[in-house]
Amino acid sequence: LSNGTLPAAGSSSGSGPGVSLDSSINLDQGDPALFEEYWRKAGERFNVAIGGGELMSYFSNLNSMCWFLLPELDVSVRRLHRLIGNAATEGRHVVVGTGSTQLLQAVLYALSSGDSPDQEPLSVVCAAPYYSCYPEVTGILRSGLYKWEGDARSFDKDGPYIELVTSPNNPDGSIRGPVVNRGDGKVVYDLAYYWPQYTAITHQADHDIMLFTFSKSTGHAGSRIGWAILKDREVARKMIKFMEVTSIGVSKEAQFRASKILGAICDGYESLSPEVLPESFFEYSKRLMIKRWGKLEEAVKLGGGIFSLPKFSREYCLFSTEFTETRPAFAWLKCKEELKDAEGLLRAHKVLARGGSKFGVDPTFVRVSMLSREDVFDAFLERLSAIKGGIMSNG
Ligand code: PMP
Repeated sequence: LSNGTLPAAGSSSGSGPGVSLDSSINLDQGDPALFEEYWRKAGERFNVAIGGGELMSYFSNLNSMCWFLLPELDVSVRRLHRLIGNAATEGRHVVVGTGSTQLLQAVLYALSSGDSPDQEPLSVVCAAPYYSCYPEVTGILRSGLYKWEGDARSFDKDGPYIELVTSPNNPDGSIRGPVVNRGDGKVVYDLAYYWPQYTAITHQADHDIMLFTFSKSTGHAGSRIGWAILKDREVARKMIKFMEVTSIGVSKEAQFRASKILGAICDGYESLSPEVLPESFFEYSKRLMIKRWGKLEEAVKLGGGIFSLPKFSREYCLFSTEFTETRPAFAWLKCKEELKDAEGLLRAHKVLARGGSKFGVDPTFVRVSMLSREDVFDAFLERLSAIKGGIMSNG
């Protein structure tokens, strides 16, 4: 970076514009590079400048229980949810985290840290296919407070538990609710993808514990900002305690940038005039996702049944006031049973993606990011189409 320029998101794949034929395409992670172009062109209203003497203190608001949350971010988060209509925030606590990944750790701590020193570890479950980071996050410290117990559908241990519900789901885009449904369970809703570019906003979510992230709402994954919306003061207090102990709060620069961008999105909708903003972010990103899914479905169809995709229902979106289908951030491809290894099949065609076993299901499934740069996505479609040719020519 000797010229001081930053690498574009998605460039870590090593495949620049006009992806070369012999380079691998990395679609393993959901790096949201496709939204970059919008923000590059969006103009100064979204820019931030921070002076050398600003945002220096650890503290953001000593009058708030969440003392490290910038008041401007609190305001922008609540404003955006009101605008989109996807989550209730009135009378709720907002806790900011370094991505929703840190908030997930904080919530596991908050729900499992009782007073008794010799309690059994609390079971943590999620219906398969589940987000592959859940077992990792739950297991990395081999905590005595909680323990990953895998697929919620086969969970039959007595006693209290935590169920993680991701909706729309990563990896398969399905709309989900809890499956264990016992009185002694706590449900954590990970709503990272409950935004209009991915799915219809069918209701205002109003759960006890909801997690959202800047990474997937606007694509600013590098800022590492997530937020929890919580009904219970005690859960909020313990999550804040976790943040205090693990990182003494959350970067104020990142919070400042997030508050500016989320606030400016809201301003745009409130005073939408073509000369200010030709197309608002959620319309733009939804249009992009529809286009990509159309192209992918076409490529899969031309593949003659080697791969298949999940079916999504059409729902009325209260935000866009029209019927729309879910268009997830990931394609959850299933190969024919006899081909066995979907990840290996893609890898042989220089497409790196994440196989089903990481998500608690069989390896005929593979998850492919739909959020790459345009040239990378087009190269993926080309390689996907070539798989049909490769297999046919081998008999
Ligand atoms: N939850 C889900 C379902 C996700 O897909 C992701 C990102 N891949 C996260 C949480 C974490 O997001 P972040 O830490 O970037 O906020």
